[in-house]
Amino acid sequence: MIYFDNAATTPLDPEVIEVMSSVMKNNFGNPSSIHTYGREARVLIEDARKTVSSLLNVSPSEIFFTSCGTEAINMVLLGCIENIGIKNIITSPIEHHAVLHTLEHFSHAGKCNVHYVKLDSRGNIDQDDLEAKLNLSDRSLVCLMHANNEIGNLLPVKDIGELSKKYNSLFLCDTVQTMGKFRNNPGNMNIHFAACSAHKFNGPKGVGFLYMNGDMKIDPLLYGGGQERTMRSGTENIYGIVGLSKAFEIAHGNMDADILYIKGLKEYMVSSLKSIISDIAFNGDSEEKGLHTILNVSFPRTDKSEMLLYSLDIEGIAASGGSACSSGSISESHVLKAIGADMNRPAIRFSFSKFNTKAEVDECITVLKKVM
Ligand code: PLP
Repeated sequence: MIYFDNAATTPLDPEVIEVMSSVMKNNFGNPSSIHTYGREARVLIEDARKTVSSLLNVSPSEIFFTSCGTEAINMVLLGCIENIGIKNIITSPIEHHAVLHTLEHFSHAGKCNVHYVKLDSRGNIDQDDLEAKLNLSDRSLVCLMHANNEIGNLLPVKDIGELSKKYNSLFLCDTVQTMGKFRNNPGNMNIHFAACSAHKFNGPKGVGFLYMNGDMKIDPLLYGGGQERTMRSGTENIYGIVGLSKAFEIAHGNMDADILYIKGLKEYMVSSLKSIISDIAFNGDSEEKGLHTILNVSFPRTDKSEMLLYSLDIEGIAASGGSACSSGSISESHVLKAIGADMNRPAIRFSFSKFNTKAEVDECITVLKKVM
């Protein structure tokens, strides 16, 4: 099997499995207990928080562990509306459903006005339009993703942070696809909130974190025992948190080499695809500029290419046809639709990790020749 669906999720790094297994065997204590078992578990969590915060260059008190990126995003959107009194929210039509469906819910309930910033045909946001929309209110929330999970487009985060600041607005950056891929530094970029999910960088599923700037104050989504300094009640997922921190550390340790290596694989895939199929298109910025891990390809429509994703799967190659979280059910991509891609052509997202090889790209090309 060849796994080219790393934007949906990644396999666990063996070193992460090792650390998590050790914690599973040796540290079952409840971090809220005051005895030795509990205190040992508490130390593991606080060490993980320190590791994560030092890699992001922020304070440990600005990191809140959650169950996933979606939870972090929901917490911020609700908090901004209910506690900070934000009425005007500016987002884009190509955000993840964790943002879009949540905002639809709140706007249908009459709690906020949602504005969708204009995009160019490659899916990059129109900064003049963003500025015009920021002008609509004394204080807005800008909610834009750092890297798009389908087409890999990268947001000019620093510019957006500065623009938000100029209009006294808050900035929630969905960094789920870029945490562990870049040296993100939310404290230096006027980012007030950022979301992370461990399973996107070879960590475990079921754990993520919210970065929240120390000046922000919102209510939690969950009430109860007051864990995570009352921001996220519920007994902590110790194994997950330790696994997240280890995966984050590994990702930062090898980051430059990994970026070069994965970028090389993507470029090799692009040139190999062009050499076998003349009528091929790359969606968004994924061919050249976008996130190094994501390549979104539109194939020519033929009776064979309609079933391409399934044919690839039968031949042992896992890729994605829809968005990350609806992979498996090939629903029409709201991202490709929003950027005006030709929806008659079957699109496949290949997404790479450090565990992929050039030999796998060669194998995929051989299979594509066969099934097309
Ligand atoms: N945001 C982006 C850009 C994503 O790619 C994903 C997951 O695919 C999410 C948010 C949601 O993250 P999680 O699966 O941890 O809830």
